[in-house]
Amino acid sequence: MEKYDAVVIGAGNGGLTASAGLARKGLNVLLLERHNIPGGCATSFCRGRFEFEVALHQLSGMGTPEKPGPLRMSLASLGVLDDLEFVEMPDLYSVSMPDGFRLTLKADKNQVVSELEEKFPHEKEAINKFFDLTYQYANEMLAAFFFKDPSPSREKYPALYKYAFKPANEVMDDIFSDPLLKNLMSVYWGYLGLPSNRLSFAYFAMLFFVYMEFKPFHIKGGSQALSNAIVNKFLLHGGTARFNCGVKKIIVENGAIQGVITEDGDHIETKYVVSNASQVTTYTQLVDPEEVPEGVFREMGGRSLSPSAFTMFIGFDCEPNELGITETTNFLMNNSHTADEIIKCMHRVHIDDELMVLSCYDVSDPDFSPSGTCQINAVTLKYGEPWMRIPPAQYHSVKYRCAESMLRRIETIFPDVRKHIEEAEVATPLTHMRYLGHPNGAIYGFEQHTKDSMFFQPGRHSPIEGLYFASGWIGDCGFQPTLQAGMSAAKSVLRKLNSN
Ligand SMILES: Cc1cc2nc3c(=O)[nH]c(=O)nc-3n(C[C@H](O)[C@H](O)[C@H](O)COP(=O)(O)OP(=O)(O)OC[C@H]3O[C@@H](n4cnc5c(N)ncnc54)[C@H](O)[C@@H]3O)c2cc1C
Repeated sequence: MEKYDAVVIGAGNGGLTASAGLARKGLNVLLLERHNIPGGCATSFCRGRFEFEVALHQLSGMGTPEKPGPLRMSLASLGVLDDLEFVEMPDLYSVSMPDGFRLTLKADKNQVVSELEEKFPHEKEAINKFFDLTYQYANEMLAAFFFKDPSPSREKYPALYKYAFKPANEVMDDIFSDPLLKNLMSVYWGYLGLPSNRLSFAYFAMLFFVYMEFKPFHIKGGSQALSNAIVNKFLLHGGTARFNCGVKKIIVENGAIQGVITEDGDHIETKYVVSNASQVTTYTQLVDPEEVPEGVFREMGGRSLSPSAFTMFIGFDCEPNELGITETTNFLMNNSHTADEIIKCMHRVHIDDELMVLSCYDVSDPDFSPSGTCQINAVTLKYGEPWMRIPPAQYHSVKYRCAESMLRRIETIFPDVRKHIEEAEVATPLTHMRYLGHPNGAIYGFEQHTKDSMFFQPGRHSPIEGLYFASGWIGDCGFQPTLQAGMSAAKSVLRKLNSN
Protein backbone atom coordinates (compact mmCIF):
# COMPACT_ATOMS: atom_id res chain seq x y z
CA MET A 1 0.00 0.00 0.00
CA GLU A 2 1.30 3.49 -0.88
CA LYS A 3 1.99 5.71 2.11
CA TYR A 4 2.13 9.53 2.37
CA ASP A 5 2.57 12.01 5.22
CA ALA A 6 -0.53 13.82 3.97
CA VAL A 7 -3.14 13.52 1.21
CA VAL A 8 -4.87 16.59 -0.19
CA ILE A 9 -8.26 16.03 -1.84
CA GLY A 10 -8.94 18.54 -4.62
CA ALA A 11 -6.69 20.96 -6.49
CA GLY A 12 -8.80 24.12 -6.14
CA ASN A 13 -7.11 27.19 -4.62
CA GLY A 14 -7.25 25.86 -1.05
CA GLY A 15 -6.03 22.38 -2.02
CA LEU A 16 -3.18 23.80 -4.07
CA THR A 17 -1.77 26.12 -1.42
CA ALA A 18 -2.26 23.48 1.29
CA SER A 19 -0.28 20.89 -0.71
CA ALA A 20 2.46 23.35 -1.70
CA GLY A 21 2.64 24.64 1.88
CA LEU A 22 3.13 21.10 3.22
CA ALA A 23 5.53 19.91 0.52
CA ARG A 24 7.86 22.88 0.93
CA LYS A 25 8.29 21.89 4.58
CA GLY A 26 9.54 18.49 3.45
CA LEU A 27 6.38 16.43 3.85
CA ASN A 28 5.67 13.63 1.41
CA VAL A 29 2.33 14.82 0.01
CA LEU A 30 -0.12 13.34 -2.50
CA LEU A 31 -2.55 15.70 -4.26
CA LEU A 32 -5.60 13.98 -5.78
CA GLU A 33 -7.86 15.88 -8.19
CA ARG A 34 -10.89 14.54 -9.99
CA HIS A 35 -10.66 16.95 -12.94
CA ASN A 36 -7.89 16.72 -15.55
CA ILE A 37 -6.39 20.13 -14.69
CA PRO A 38 -5.58 21.99 -11.45
CA GLY A 39 -7.52 25.01 -10.19
CA GLY A 40 -11.16 24.06 -9.43
CA CYS A 41 -12.84 27.41 -10.17
CA ALA A 42 -9.39 28.87 -10.90
CA THR A 43 -9.10 27.38 -14.37
CA SER A 44 -9.52 28.19 -18.04
CA PHE A 45 -10.72 26.28 -21.10
CA CYS A 46 -10.16 26.73 -24.84
CA ARG A 47 -12.64 27.23 -27.66
CA GLY A 48 -11.28 28.08 -31.09
CA ARG A 49 -8.49 30.62 -30.68
CA PHE A 50 -9.69 31.78 -27.25
CA GLU A 51 -8.62 30.64 -23.80
CA PHE A 52 -11.52 31.59 -21.55
CA GLU A 53 -11.11 32.53 -17.90
CA VAL A 54 -13.61 30.56 -15.80
CA ALA A 55 -13.88 32.55 -12.58
CA LEU A 56 -11.48 35.33 -11.70
CA HIS A 57 -12.92 38.80 -12.18
CA GLN A 58 -10.88 40.78 -9.68
CA LEU A 59 -8.14 39.38 -7.49
CA SER A 60 -8.14 41.04 -4.06
CA GLY A 61 -5.43 41.50 -1.45
CA MET A 62 -2.46 41.68 -3.85
CA GLY A 63 -1.17 45.22 -3.40
CA THR A 64 2.00 46.33 -5.12
CA PRO A 65 5.63 45.31 -4.47
CA GLU A 66 6.03 48.66 -2.64
CA LYS A 67 2.86 48.19 -0.60
CA PRO A 68 2.26 44.43 -0.55
CA GLY A 69 -1.12 43.09 0.44
CA PRO A 70 -1.67 39.86 2.40
CA LEU A 71 -2.09 37.72 -0.73
CA ARG A 72 1.12 38.99 -2.32
CA MET A 73 2.97 38.06 0.88
CA SER A 74 1.38 34.59 0.95
CA LEU A 75 2.24 33.89 -2.69
CA ALA A 76 5.78 35.15 -2.08
CA SER A 77 6.17 32.71 0.81
CA LEU A 78 5.13 29.88 -1.52
CA GLY A 79 7.79 31.05 -3.99
CA VAL A 80 5.39 31.53 -6.92
CA LEU A 81 5.44 35.33 -7.19
CA ASP A 82 8.33 35.46 -9.65
CA ASP A 83 6.61 32.94 -11.94
CA LEU A 84 3.57 35.18 -12.42
CA GLU A 85 2.75 38.57 -13.86
CA PHE A 86 -0.08 40.54 -12.29
CA VAL A 87 -2.10 43.18 -14.10
CA GLU A 88 -3.42 46.03 -11.96
CA MET A 89 -6.91 47.22 -12.86
CA PRO A 90 -7.34 50.99 -12.60
CA ASP A 91 -11.06 50.80 -11.84
CA LEU A 92 -13.11 49.30 -9.07
CA TYR A 93 -16.04 48.91 -11.41
CA SER A 94 -18.28 50.59 -13.90
CA VAL A 95 -22.06 50.50 -13.49
CA SER A 96 -24.36 50.63 -16.51
CA MET A 97 -28.12 50.81 -16.66
CA PRO A 98 -30.45 50.41 -19.64
CA ASP A 99 -31.55 54.08 -19.36
CA GLY A 100 -28.02 55.15 -20.31
CA PHE A 101 -26.76 55.84 -16.78
CA ARG A 102 -23.07 55.02 -16.51
CA LEU A 103 -20.58 55.59 -13.75
CA THR A 104 -17.02 54.35 -13.34
CA LEU A 105 -15.33 54.29 -9.96
CA LYS A 106 -11.53 54.33 -9.83
CA ALA A 107 -9.80 51.94 -7.44
CA ASP A 108 -8.81 54.72 -5.06
CA LYS A 109 -10.71 56.03 -2.04
CA ASN A 110 -10.22 59.73 -2.75
CA GLN A 111 -11.18 59.36 -6.39
CA VAL A 112 -14.24 57.26 -5.56
CA VAL A 113 -15.36 59.94 -3.14
CA SER A 114 -14.91 62.78 -5.63
CA GLU A 115 -16.55 60.83 -8.52
CA LEU A 116 -19.56 60.12 -6.32
CA GLU A 117 -19.70 63.68 -4.98
CA GLU A 118 -19.80 65.00 -8.52
CA LYS A 119 -22.68 62.70 -9.47
CA PHE A 120 -24.54 63.05 -6.15
CA PRO A 121 -23.70 66.55 -4.81
CA HIS A 122 -26.67 66.40 -2.42
CA GLU A 123 -25.07 63.36 -0.70
CA LYS A 124 -21.58 64.84 -0.29
CA GLU A 125 -21.46 64.54 3.47
CA ALA A 126 -22.97 61.03 3.43
CA ILE A 127 -20.44 59.80 0.87
CA ASN A 128 -17.52 60.95 3.01
CA LYS A 129 -19.12 59.48 6.09
CA PHE A 130 -19.65 56.10 4.40
CA PHE A 131 -16.08 55.69 3.20
CA ASP A 132 -14.59 57.00 6.45
CA LEU A 133 -16.70 54.46 8.32
CA THR A 134 -15.69 51.68 5.89
CA TYR A 135 -12.01 52.43 6.47
CA GLN A 136 -12.41 52.83 10.22
CA TYR A 137 -14.30 49.54 10.38
CA ALA A 138 -11.72 47.70 8.24
CA ASN A 139 -8.78 49.02 10.27
CA GLU A 140 -10.45 48.08 13.55
CA MET A 141 -11.29 44.66 12.16
CA LEU A 142 -7.69 44.06 11.11
CA ALA A 143 -6.30 45.14 14.49
CA ALA A 144 -8.82 43.31 16.66
CA PHE A 145 -9.61 40.21 14.64
CA PHE A 146 -6.86 39.42 12.14
CA PHE A 147 -3.97 40.59 14.34
CA LYS A 148 -5.73 39.01 17.33
CA ASP A 149 -5.69 41.82 19.88
CA PRO A 150 -5.71 39.92 23.22
CA SER A 151 -7.82 42.60 24.93
CA PRO A 152 -10.31 44.06 22.46
CA SER A 153 -12.93 46.42 23.83
CA ARG A 154 -15.82 48.60 22.71
CA GLU A 155 -13.77 51.68 23.59
CA LYS A 156 -10.82 50.60 21.44
CA TYR A 157 -12.92 49.42 18.48
CA PRO A 158 -16.18 51.41 18.45
CA ALA A 159 -17.03 50.84 14.75
CA LEU A 160 -16.33 47.12 14.95
CA TYR A 161 -18.54 46.67 18.01
CA LYS A 162 -21.33 48.80 16.55
CA TYR A 163 -21.46 47.46 13.00
CA ALA A 164 -20.04 43.90 12.94
CA PHE A 165 -23.45 42.22 13.03
CA LYS A 166 -25.47 44.76 11.09
CA PRO A 167 -26.59 43.99 7.56
CA ALA A 168 -24.93 46.21 4.94
CA ASN A 169 -28.21 47.83 3.85
CA GLU A 170 -29.04 48.99 7.40
CA VAL A 171 -25.74 50.83 7.54
CA MET A 172 -26.32 52.35 4.09
CA ASP A 173 -29.92 53.30 4.96
CA ASP A 174 -28.61 55.16 8.01
CA ILE A 175 -26.12 57.12 5.94
CA PHE A 176 -27.54 57.63 2.41
CA SER A 177 -30.93 58.91 1.34
CA ASP A 178 -30.61 58.62 -2.47
CA PRO A 179 -31.80 55.10 -3.47
CA LEU A 180 -29.72 55.13 -6.68
CA LEU A 181 -26.56 55.85 -4.72
CA LYS A 182 -27.36 53.02 -2.31
CA ASN A 183 -27.84 50.62 -5.20
CA LEU A 184 -24.60 51.68 -6.87
CA MET A 185 -22.74 51.09 -3.65
CA SER A 186 -24.34 47.66 -3.24
CA VAL A 187 -23.29 45.93 -6.47
CA TYR A 188 -20.29 44.18 -4.89
CA TRP A 189 -22.80 41.88 -3.17
CA GLY A 190 -22.49 39.89 -6.41
CA TYR A 191 -18.99 38.82 -5.29
CA LEU A 192 -20.32 37.59 -1.98
CA GLY A 193 -23.56 35.90 -3.01
CA LEU A 194 -26.03 37.65 -0.70
CA PRO A 195 -27.84 40.94 -1.32
CA SER A 196 -27.18 43.79 1.07
CA ASN A 197 -30.18 43.13 3.36
CA ARG A 198 -28.73 39.70 4.25
CA LEU A 199 -25.03 40.45 3.95
CA SER A 200 -23.07 41.44 7.02
CA PHE A 201 -21.55 44.93 6.81
CA ALA A 202 -18.29 43.27 7.89
CA TYR A 203 -17.88 41.59 4.49
CA PHE A 204 -19.04 44.58 2.58
CA ALA A 205 -16.64 46.99 4.29
CA MET A 206 -13.70 44.61 3.97
CA LEU A 207 -14.35 44.07 0.27
CA PHE A 208 -14.36 47.80 -0.50
CA PHE A 209 -11.29 48.27 1.69
CA VAL A 210 -9.16 45.52 0.12
CA TYR A 211 -10.00 46.56 -3.44
CA MET A 212 -9.36 50.25 -2.77
CA GLU A 213 -6.24 49.78 -0.64
CA PHE A 214 -4.62 46.83 -2.44
CA LYS A 215 -6.26 47.37 -5.86
CA PRO A 216 -8.04 44.79 -8.03
CA PHE A 217 -5.74 42.61 -10.15
CA HIS A 218 -5.87 40.09 -12.93
CA ILE A 219 -3.18 37.59 -13.85
CA LYS A 220 -1.40 37.26 -17.19
CA GLY A 221 -2.56 33.90 -18.50
CA GLY A 222 -5.61 34.04 -16.22
CA SER A 223 -6.20 32.16 -13.00
CA GLN A 224 -4.98 28.96 -14.71
CA ALA A 225 -1.48 30.47 -14.73
CA LEU A 226 -1.70 30.86 -10.94
CA SER A 227 -2.95 27.29 -10.45
CA ASN A 228 -0.21 25.91 -12.72
CA ALA A 229 2.48 27.92 -10.93
CA ILE A 230 1.44 26.52 -7.53
CA VAL A 231 1.30 22.94 -8.82
CA ASN A 232 4.73 23.34 -10.40
CA LYS A 233 6.16 24.58 -7.11
CA PHE A 234 4.50 21.66 -5.32
CA LEU A 235 6.09 19.18 -7.75
CA LEU A 236 9.45 20.93 -7.39
CA HIS A 237 9.28 20.35 -3.63
CA GLY A 238 8.83 16.63 -4.29
CA GLY A 239 5.01 16.46 -4.14
CA THR A 240 3.03 13.92 -6.16
CA ALA A 241 -0.10 15.00 -8.06
CA ARG A 242 -2.65 12.80 -9.78
CA PHE A 243 -5.33 14.24 -12.04
CA ASN A 244 -8.42 12.39 -13.29
CA CYS A 245 -8.16 10.75 -9.90
CA GLY A 246 -11.04 11.46 -7.54
CA VAL A 247 -11.21 10.27 -3.96
CA LYS A 248 -14.05 7.83 -3.27
CA LYS A 249 -13.57 7.31 0.42
CA ILE A 250 -11.72 8.68 3.43
CA ILE A 251 -10.87 5.81 5.77
CA VAL A 252 -11.56 6.68 9.40
CA GLU A 253 -11.08 4.26 12.28
CA ASN A 254 -11.79 5.08 15.91
CA GLY A 255 -12.21 8.73 15.09
CA ALA A 256 -8.86 9.10 13.32
CA ILE A 257 -7.77 9.23 9.65
CA GLN A 258 -6.16 6.06 8.32
CA GLY A 259 -6.06 6.74 4.59
CA VAL A 260 -8.08 7.27 1.42
CA ILE A 261 -9.39 5.11 -1.42
CA THR A 262 -9.36 6.61 -4.92
CA GLU A 263 -12.11 6.19 -7.50
CA ASP A 264 -9.69 3.80 -9.28
CA GLY A 265 -9.67 1.64 -6.15
CA ASP A 266 -6.13 2.48 -4.96
CA HIS A 267 -5.69 2.36 -1.18
CA ILE A 268 -3.40 5.06 0.19
CA GLU A 269 -2.22 5.17 3.77
CA THR A 270 -1.94 8.50 5.59
CA LYS A 271 -2.66 10.03 8.98
CA TYR A 272 -3.51 13.48 7.57
CA VAL A 273 -6.08 14.50 4.98
CA VAL A 274 -6.75 18.08 3.87
CA SER A 275 -10.08 18.24 2.06
CA ASN A 276 -10.63 20.93 -0.56
CA ALA A 277 -13.92 19.20 -1.43
CA SER A 278 -16.97 20.78 0.18
CA GLN A 279 -17.69 19.96 3.80
CA VAL A 280 -21.02 18.50 2.63
CA THR A 281 -19.33 16.12 0.15
CA THR A 282 -16.62 15.20 2.64
CA TYR A 283 -19.04 14.20 5.40
CA THR A 284 -21.89 12.77 3.31
CA GLN A 285 -19.96 10.98 0.55
CA LEU A 286 -16.37 10.38 1.59
CA VAL A 287 -16.51 9.50 5.29
CA ASP A 288 -18.56 6.46 6.41
CA PRO A 289 -21.75 7.69 8.17
CA GLU A 290 -20.92 5.90 11.42
CA GLU A 291 -17.58 7.77 11.59
CA VAL A 292 -19.12 11.24 11.19
CA PRO A 293 -18.86 12.92 14.60
CA GLU A 294 -21.99 13.96 16.41
CA GLY A 295 -22.98 17.54 15.85
CA VAL A 296 -21.49 17.81 12.36
CA PHE A 297 -24.81 17.35 10.56
CA ARG A 298 -26.59 19.53 13.11
CA GLU A 299 -24.09 22.32 12.46
CA MET A 300 -24.31 21.95 8.66
CA GLY A 301 -28.10 21.65 8.82
CA GLY A 302 -28.30 25.20 10.15
CA ARG A 303 -26.58 26.59 7.11
CA SER A 304 -27.72 27.19 3.54
CA LEU A 305 -25.99 26.69 0.22
CA SER A 306 -24.76 29.75 -1.65
CA PRO A 307 -25.92 30.41 -5.21
CA SER A 308 -24.20 28.98 -8.24
CA ALA A 309 -23.75 30.95 -11.46
CA PHE A 310 -24.89 31.22 -15.05
CA THR A 311 -21.99 32.40 -17.20
CA MET A 312 -21.47 33.27 -20.85
CA PHE A 313 -17.95 33.21 -22.24
CA ILE A 314 -17.81 35.06 -25.56
CA GLY A 315 -14.87 35.59 -27.92
CA PHE A 316 -15.18 38.51 -30.37
CA ASP A 317 -13.44 39.19 -33.67
CA CYS A 318 -12.64 42.78 -32.67
CA GLU A 319 -11.04 44.93 -29.98
CA PRO A 320 -13.12 45.91 -26.91
CA ASN A 321 -13.45 49.59 -27.95
CA GLU A 322 -15.25 48.54 -31.15
CA LEU A 323 -17.91 47.06 -28.88
CA GLY A 324 -18.00 50.16 -26.68
CA ILE A 325 -16.37 48.27 -23.79
CA THR A 326 -13.96 50.66 -22.12
CA GLU A 327 -13.72 49.23 -18.59
CA THR A 328 -12.61 45.81 -17.41
CA THR A 329 -15.28 45.26 -14.76
CA ASN A 330 -18.83 46.23 -15.66
CA PHE A 331 -21.88 45.72 -13.50
CA LEU A 332 -25.11 45.77 -15.51
CA MET A 333 -27.79 46.64 -13.02
CA ASN A 334 -31.44 47.45 -12.69
CA ASN A 335 -32.08 50.23 -10.23
CA SER A 336 -35.62 49.16 -9.36
CA HIS A 337 -34.86 45.75 -7.79
CA THR A 338 -35.25 45.50 -4.05
CA ALA A 339 -33.03 43.06 -2.19
CA ASP A 340 -35.96 40.62 -1.86
CA GLU A 341 -36.57 40.77 -5.62
CA ILE A 342 -32.87 40.02 -6.16
CA ILE A 343 -33.26 36.82 -4.13
CA LYS A 344 -36.33 35.88 -6.20
CA CYS A 345 -34.35 36.40 -9.43
CA MET A 346 -31.61 34.09 -8.16
CA HIS A 347 -34.22 31.41 -7.45
CA ARG A 348 -35.59 31.37 -10.99
CA VAL A 349 -33.99 29.76 -14.03
CA HIS A 350 -35.03 32.51 -16.40
CA ILE A 351 -32.71 35.50 -16.97
CA ASP A 352 -34.15 38.96 -17.37
CA ASP A 353 -32.72 42.13 -15.86
CA GLU A 354 -30.88 40.79 -12.83
CA LEU A 355 -27.47 42.09 -11.77
CA MET A 356 -24.74 40.85 -14.05
CA VAL A 357 -20.97 41.33 -13.93
CA LEU A 358 -19.30 41.48 -17.31
CA SER A 359 -15.51 41.36 -17.35
CA CYS A 360 -13.40 42.15 -20.38
CA TYR A 361 -9.82 41.37 -19.32
CA ASP A 362 -8.45 42.69 -22.64
CA VAL A 363 -9.19 46.27 -21.53
CA SER A 364 -6.49 46.19 -18.86
CA ASP A 365 -4.38 43.47 -20.53
CA PRO A 366 -4.49 43.90 -24.36
CA ASP A 367 -2.55 40.61 -24.81
CA PHE A 368 -5.18 38.58 -22.99
CA SER A 369 -6.83 37.38 -26.24
CA PRO A 370 -5.24 36.98 -29.69
CA SER A 371 -4.42 40.24 -31.45
CA GLY A 372 -7.49 41.95 -32.94
CA THR A 373 -9.89 40.01 -30.69
CA CYS A 374 -11.24 40.23 -27.17
CA GLN A 375 -13.35 38.17 -24.81
CA ILE A 376 -15.92 38.71 -22.11
CA ASN A 377 -17.10 36.64 -19.19
CA ALA A 378 -20.64 37.64 -18.15
CA VAL A 379 -22.03 36.12 -14.93
CA THR A 380 -25.26 36.30 -13.03
CA LEU A 381 -25.85 34.39 -9.79
CA LYS A 382 -28.42 31.58 -9.80
CA TYR A 383 -29.28 29.00 -7.16
CA GLY A 384 -28.67 25.48 -8.41
CA GLU A 385 -31.88 23.91 -7.15
CA PRO A 386 -34.29 25.09 -9.94
CA TRP A 387 -31.74 23.96 -12.53
CA MET A 388 -31.68 20.49 -11.01
CA ARG A 389 -35.44 20.18 -11.61
CA ILE A 390 -35.11 20.70 -15.39
CA PRO A 391 -35.74 17.38 -17.20
CA PRO A 392 -32.50 16.29 -18.93
CA ALA A 393 -34.19 16.34 -22.37
CA GLN A 394 -34.97 20.05 -21.92
CA TYR A 395 -31.63 21.10 -20.42
CA HIS A 396 -29.96 22.28 -23.62
CA SER A 397 -32.93 24.28 -24.88
CA VAL A 398 -33.35 25.98 -21.48
CA LYS A 399 -29.62 26.70 -21.28
CA TYR A 400 -29.51 28.32 -24.74
CA ARG A 401 -32.76 30.21 -24.15
CA CYS A 402 -31.18 31.73 -21.04
CA ALA A 403 -28.00 32.50 -22.99
CA GLU A 404 -30.10 34.31 -25.60
CA SER A 405 -31.77 36.40 -22.84
CA MET A 406 -28.39 37.20 -21.35
CA LEU A 407 -27.07 38.28 -24.72
CA ARG A 408 -30.10 40.52 -25.30
CA ARG A 409 -29.43 42.10 -21.91
CA ILE A 410 -25.78 42.71 -22.83
CA GLU A 411 -26.95 44.29 -26.11
CA THR A 412 -28.93 46.91 -24.18
CA ILE A 413 -25.58 48.31 -23.02
CA PHE A 414 -23.21 47.18 -25.79
CA PRO A 415 -25.46 47.06 -28.91
CA ASP A 416 -22.84 45.71 -31.36
CA VAL A 417 -21.79 42.55 -29.54
CA ARG A 418 -23.88 40.04 -31.50
CA LYS A 419 -22.40 40.75 -34.90
CA HIS A 420 -18.82 40.25 -33.64
CA ILE A 421 -19.25 36.89 -31.87
CA GLU A 422 -16.69 34.32 -32.95
CA GLU A 423 -16.97 31.79 -30.11
CA ALA A 424 -19.47 31.40 -27.31
CA GLU A 425 -19.81 28.92 -24.45
CA VAL A 426 -22.27 28.74 -21.59
CA ALA A 427 -21.92 27.39 -18.04
CA THR A 428 -24.93 26.76 -15.81
CA PRO A 429 -25.19 25.71 -12.16
CA LEU A 430 -25.13 22.11 -13.43
CA THR A 431 -21.76 22.77 -15.08
CA HIS A 432 -20.35 23.95 -11.75
CA MET A 433 -21.86 20.94 -10.04
CA ARG A 434 -20.17 18.63 -12.51
CA TYR A 435 -16.73 20.25 -12.48
CA LEU A 436 -16.44 21.20 -8.80
CA GLY A 437 -18.49 18.39 -7.26
CA HIS A 438 -20.18 20.91 -4.94
CA PRO A 439 -23.83 20.44 -3.88
CA ASN A 440 -26.18 22.45 -6.10
CA GLY A 441 -23.10 23.82 -7.90
CA ALA A 442 -22.69 26.37 -5.07
CA ILE A 443 -19.73 28.59 -5.92
CA TYR A 444 -19.41 30.48 -2.63
CA GLY A 445 -19.69 27.56 -0.18
CA PHE A 446 -22.27 28.11 2.54
CA GLU A 447 -24.08 31.43 2.54
CA GLN A 448 -22.39 33.98 4.76
CA HIS A 449 -25.35 35.26 6.76
CA THR A 450 -24.29 37.22 9.82
CA LYS A 451 -24.67 34.11 12.00
CA ASP A 452 -22.31 32.24 9.65
CA SER A 453 -19.89 35.11 9.18
CA MET A 454 -16.19 35.19 9.95
CA PHE A 455 -16.90 35.76 13.65
CA PHE A 456 -18.57 32.37 14.13
CA GLN A 457 -16.82 30.10 11.66
CA PRO A 458 -15.75 26.69 12.87
CA GLY A 459 -12.03 25.91 12.74
CA ARG A 460 -10.31 24.19 9.81
CA HIS A 461 -9.83 21.09 11.95
CA SER A 462 -12.58 18.46 11.85
CA PRO A 463 -13.44 16.58 15.05
CA ILE A 464 -12.03 13.59 13.13
CA GLU A 465 -8.37 13.40 14.09
CA GLY A 466 -6.13 14.20 11.13
CA LEU A 467 -8.88 15.71 8.95
CA TYR A 468 -8.55 19.38 7.95
CA PHE A 469 -10.47 21.62 5.55
CA ALA A 470 -9.10 24.14 3.09
CA SER A 471 -11.76 25.70 0.90
CA GLY A 472 -14.47 28.30 0.66
CA TRP A 473 -16.74 25.97 2.64
CA ILE A 474 -14.97 26.66 5.91
CA GLY A 475 -14.09 30.32 6.02
CA ASP A 476 -14.71 32.94 3.40
CA CYS A 477 -15.02 32.50 -0.33
CA GLY A 478 -13.10 34.09 -3.15
CA PHE A 479 -9.57 33.74 -4.43
CA GLN A 480 -7.72 35.55 -1.66
CA PRO A 481 -9.53 33.81 1.24
CA THR A 482 -9.29 30.30 -0.26
CA LEU A 483 -5.64 30.64 -1.25
CA GLN A 484 -4.91 31.76 2.29
CA ALA A 485 -7.16 29.07 3.78
CA GLY A 486 -4.95 26.39 2.20
CA MET A 487 -1.88 27.94 3.72
CA SER A 488 -3.39 28.07 7.19
CA ALA A 489 -4.62 24.46 6.86
CA ALA A 490 -1.03 23.46 6.02
CA LYS A 491 0.19 25.35 9.10
CA SER A 492 -2.38 23.56 11.28
CA VAL A 493 -1.20 20.15 10.02
CA LEU A 494 2.45 21.10 10.57
CA ARG A 495 1.70 22.36 14.07
CA LYS A 496 -0.04 19.11 14.91
CA LEU A 497 2.83 17.03 13.49
CA ASN A 498 5.39 19.04 15.44
CA SER A 499 3.44 18.64 18.65
CA ASN A 500 3.37 14.82 18.33
C1 LIG B 1 -18.05 32.22 -12.11
C2 LIG B 1 -17.22 32.53 -10.89
C3 LIG B 1 -16.71 33.81 -10.70
C4 LIG B 1 -15.92 34.11 -9.58
N1 LIG B 1 -15.33 35.35 -9.47
C5 LIG B 1 -14.46 35.61 -8.44
C6 LIG B 1 -13.71 36.84 -8.36
O1 LIG B 1 -13.75 37.69 -9.24
N2 LIG B 1 -12.91 37.07 -7.30
C7 LIG B 1 -12.77 36.15 -6.31
O2 LIG B 1 -12.01 36.38 -5.37
N3 LIG B 1 -13.46 34.97 -6.35
C8 LIG B 1 -14.29 34.67 -7.39
N4 LIG B 1 -14.96 33.47 -7.47
C9 LIG B 1 -14.89 32.54 -6.31
C10 LIG B 1 -13.60 31.74 -6.28
O3 LIG B 1 -13.30 31.28 -7.57
C11 LIG B 1 -13.78 30.55 -5.35
O4 LIG B 1 -14.21 31.01 -4.07
C12 LIG B 1 -12.49 29.77 -5.13
O5 LIG B 1 -11.80 29.57 -6.34
C13 LIG B 1 -12.85 28.43 -4.51
O6 LIG B 1 -11.67 27.73 -4.20
P1 LIG B 1 -11.70 26.43 -3.33
O7 LIG B 1 -10.35 26.26 -2.75
O8 LIG B 1 -12.85 26.45 -2.38
O9 LIG B 1 -11.87 25.21 -4.36
P2 LIG B 1 -12.84 24.96 -5.61
O10 LIG B 1 -12.50 25.90 -6.69
O11 LIG B 1 -14.24 24.88 -5.17
O12 LIG B 1 -12.31 23.53 -6.08
C14 LIG B 1 -12.55 22.32 -5.39
C15 LIG B 1 -11.77 21.23 -6.12
O13 LIG B 1 -11.96 19.99 -5.44
C16 LIG B 1 -12.10 18.96 -6.42
N5 LIG B 1 -12.81 17.82 -5.82
C17 LIG B 1 -14.04 17.81 -5.27
N6 LIG B 1 -14.35 16.57 -4.83
C18 LIG B 1 -13.26 15.79 -5.08
C19 LIG B 1 -12.96 14.41 -4.85
N7 LIG B 1 -13.82 13.58 -4.25
N8 LIG B 1 -11.75 13.95 -5.26
C20 LIG B 1 -10.84 14.76 -5.85
N9 LIG B 1 -11.09 16.07 -6.11
C21 LIG B 1 -12.29 16.57 -5.72
C22 LIG B 1 -12.88 19.62 -7.54
O14 LIG B 1 -12.74 18.90 -8.75
C23 LIG B 1 -12.22 21.00 -7.56
O15 LIG B 1 -11.10 21.03 -8.41
C24 LIG B 1 -15.70 33.11 -8.60
C25 LIG B 1 -16.21 31.82 -8.80
C26 LIG B 1 -16.93 31.52 -9.95
C27 LIG B 1 -17.39 30.10 -10.18
